[in-house]
Amino acid sequence: MHKRRWNALKLELVIEPRAPLLIKSGLASPNPSLPDMQFVRTMTPQGETVFIPGSSLKGTFRSFTEKVLRTAKADGACEPFPSSPEYCGRRLGREENPATIYKRSCRACRMYGNTRLRGRLSFTDAFPEGAVKTETRYGVAISRLTNAVAVGPFDMEVLVQGRFRTALVLENFEVWQMGLLALTLQAINDGLVKLGFGKNRGFGEVSITVEQAVVELAKKPGLPQNAIWGAGAFVDDGERKDYGLQEGDRLEDLPEGMQIDFALFVRRTYDREAWRKVAEKAMESLPHILEAA
Ligand SMILES: [Zn+2]
Repeated sequence: MHKRRWNALKLELVIEPRAPLLIKSGLASPNPSLPDMQFVRTMTPQGETVFIPGSSLKGTFRSFTEKVLRTAKADGACEPFPSSPEYCGRRLGREENPATIYKRSCRACRMYGNTRLRGRLSFTDAFPEGAVKTETRYGVAISRLTNAVAVGPFDMEVLVQGRFRTALVLENFEVWQMGLLALTLQAINDGLVKLGFGKNRGFGEVSITVEQAVVELAKKPGLPQNAIWGAGAFVDDGERKDYGLQEGDRLEDLPEGMQIDFALFVRRTYDREAWRKVAEKAMESLPHILEAA
């Protein structure tokens, strides 16, 4: 990772179920009156609550990103399993230089991390804002071989109503990472990517609304108000070469946003509508960048 924070993008999100949602708890409850498959819960100062773990969001986002990268280029993303010889964390096991590890990792690992590299995109748990409603649904699993009931019946606790708030932070990013993030959010909103358990039962469709986007950029002479610069624009030649970054990495002709000047950086805030335009620009830049590599 670079020694300085050159740029950062924070997206403030609201997630709402559009179909039943079940993020399974890994623990079996000792309480027999509770459903067999429970929605994951945690303790907060306000008491126990259902929530959407950041790790669960990350897994969903990452696997979609891998698919996109492999569509653009057959070896565009590694198989992120320790047993796979192609896994970047394994392939780069002996490398010590963090810049080389970044440069030689696949794009999915550069964004989401691997055992040798911290991801540039971080997720936090999404907690409900106001009331949530869960219901019990019953299910069986049918064996494909015998057409008989293989498992069940079992009961599942699904979330049917609620508003969950969280934030994603992308730090020291390249513009293509913003593009892939915007594309993933769009795919989720289009119902192409679902969350949690029971996707083939019609579960897991959610909407994700970006309520506000905050971009912070290190000060750089000549930095125009309506552009966002990737990390490569800020570092020196040596660091750019070591990490494999691009000097001209930027998005231009963006809505201006509300800008505040600090001593070392500027902070620009985009509302929902302005972010939509920024996201479109970021997605438009993707084919050009991904095919060039
Ligand atoms: Zn990888």
